[in-house]
Amino acid sequence: MKAKYTRSQAQIIQVLKSLNYAISAQNLYAELKDRDQPLGLATVYRALEAFKTQGTVKARILTSGEALYSLISHDHHHINCVSCGQSFVINECPVHDLEERLEQTHHFQIYYHTLEFFGRCPQCQDNQVQ
Ligand SMILES: [Zn+2]
Ligand SMILES: [Zn+2]
Repeated sequence: MKAKYTRSQAQIIQVLKSLNYAISAQNLYAELKDRDQPLGLATVYRALEAFKTQGTVKARILTSGEALYSLISHDHHHINCVSCGQSFVINECPVHDLEERLEQTHHFQIYYHTLEFFGRCPQCQDNQVQ
């Protein structure tokens, strides 16, 4: 896919590429500032929205409701603790084949999928106050 980026969009892509984790719009804004490439928060949000429809970036919603953004090429899934809010990366994707199959059967160009697990982490199980 050959997407043409504006200068601010290119800056954002650069930051997302350099990180190997998903980042919130607020932190992305702070990160750009740290790198002496400040952009307005509204610009950051606008760019992320554009990337989502282009299939460049995906959003992951935390239990807190906050959205974290990352490049679509990062196919990582997580187990989330509903007590402390910590997330742990799962290093496997069980639906990769399904995705390819769906592209065939539904003639869809699938950008990405989400798969989240929720529960209680070991520490929170130990700290149960009951
Ligand atoms: Zn926990
Ligand atoms: Zn996956």
